[in-house]
Amino acid sequence: MRITALAGGTGAAKLLRGLAVLVPPEQITVIGNTGDDTQIWGLHISPDLDTVTYALAGLLDEEKGWGLRDDTFMCLAAMAALGQEAWFNLGDRDLATHLFRTERLAAGQSLSEVTTAIRRALGVRSRILPASDAPVATRVLTPTGWLGFQEFFVREKAQVEVLDVAYAGADQASPAPGVLEAIRTAVVVVICPSNPITSIGPILAVPGIAEALAATSARVLAVSPIVGGAPVSGPAGKLMAAKGLPVSAVGVAKLYRPWLDLLVLDRRDERLAPEVTALGITPVVTGTMMTDRGAEVALARAALEALAR
Ligand code: GDP
Repeated sequence: MRITALAGGTGAAKLLRGLAVLVPPEQITVIGNTGDDTQIWGLHISPDLDTVTYALAGLLDEEKGWGLRDDTFMCLAAMAALGQEAWFNLGDRDLATHLFRTERLAAGQSLSEVTTAIRRALGVRSRILPASDAPVATRVLTPTGWLGFQEFFVREKAQVEVLDVAYAGADQASPAPGVLEAIRTAVVVVICPSNPITSIGPILAVPGIAEALAATSARVLAVSPIVGGAPVSGPAGKLMAAKGLPVSAVGVAKLYRPWLDLLVLDRRDERLAPEVTALGITPVVTGTMMTDRGAEVALARAALEALAR
């Protein structure tokens, strides 16, 4: 059962943990979002790749949904005392990941190579690939101009009006080694419950990836991150609205329609199932709130069973 998963951060981390309980982890390939990547204090931060890596390593701070469990923030406080920007929370142990990544990139390694080195060092057996080794930066247009994703999400706490979203560099980017092959040779492809605009969007913006999803013989299933007309967390609703999509599982279905076979929607959204069917996508109705480990595994199992039917 070779599984390829497209993943953002927090929602993806939970579903991937569930899948890794049911399927041998080495049979899972994760294609991760790098649209949120940023430079802080000269360091290359890849928040979504790190969230997925830490989750599969069993090291994630599950309360926050990012960073390492039991981390401390003394360096952050010391940088603030030096008058440096301190709105992006970097934990002390987490900093080692960013120092390692930045040094290896400066030495000429690709982001894929560094990501593999980090996940291997942390004992993660699933493959984790960035969608592209080239920069693809999510930019958010607000009434006062364009912001980088982290400026919008962390500094402004996603509280500003959003007029548009763009993926800078996507045109010139190509899929990282192994990405297209992982989609082509998978038995199933799972689109994790991740922000459709700023987590899955930057992956789909890399030329060739959406085409590979349309061409693969694998069945493609997505889990809706929108439950009951709102995202479970984060700014997905605001961003979907800015892109002219309904903030619902139907909006997710419309965005993924060119290549999606099945959409898992929450029981709360059962009444939307006929609209999903009308788009040519098979709805799968189940509980999708991953509030504990049992719920993560149950959702992963429901997805795999639907894919096998
Ligand atoms: P961001 O936080 O919006 O930048 O996006 P991420 O892609 O990192 O992850 C958050 C997404 O996961 C949001 O769109 C959430 O609605 C979704 N999500 C988080 N937890 C769950 C869950 O337990 N169930 C479902 N269905 N979606 C979830």
